[in-house]
Amino acid sequence: MSGATGKACSICGKSQPVEQFSYGNRELRSYCISCSKAEKAAYRKGGVVAARQFRESMRGKWRSDA
Ligand SMILES: [Zn+2]
Repeated sequence: MSGATGKACSICGKSQPVEQFSYGNRELRSYCISCSKAEKAAYRKGGVVAARQFRESMRGKWRSDA
């Protein structure tokens, strides 16, 4: 352990307090709660494809290997 608090979101890439990853009766999810909400909104509009496109476009902002 490095002693750093928080966890990096696998969508937005930002390190945030672990509380941001505990929701929906589960803890330490891969996405922060705000990304999860945005992904669900995309899913409601366009289903699985839109949700995936949302995740990939978000990751493309901070990942160079996308
Ligand atoms: Zn996030």
